[in-house]
Amino acid sequence: MPVVRRYSRQREAILTHLKGRCDHPSADQVYADLRETLPNLSLGTVYRNLNALSGSGDVLRFTVNGKEHFDGNITPHSHFICLNCGAILDIFDATQNKVKAQMEKELDCFVSGVQILVYGKCNACSK
Ligand SMILES: [Zn+2]
Ligand SMILES: [Zn+2]
Repeated sequence: MPVVRRYSRQREAILTHLKGRCDHPSADQVYADLRETLPNLSLGTVYRNLNALSGSGDVLRFTVNGKEHFDGNITPHSHFICLNCGAILDIFDATQNKVKAQMEKELDCFVSGVQILVYGKCNACSK
């Protein structure tokens, strides 16, 4: 099944690419950057694979101003969004675990994931 094999190789390439960068690109950006090395790649394929990868938990997906962003780092962390320049910064702390524990206790539900988006002005923009 050459078609299946090609898709899984592209999925692998997309995952490797995402894990190798620490900004949080949109599907368009991933497509633009991978096109040079994978000339057969289509935007639809990028979307489909990013959907599959976030569905299986291999990448994180979150929406900022109506636009989806993807993150190859699946270690639990929060994001700071600069409203001025659009920078997306990683925050590694225990807040997510605290929220998960607190919600499970308060709601008596199983929490499978927590995403925290913090908004403001980044260091460079607030100077
Ligand atoms: Zn900024
Ligand atoms: Zn991140």
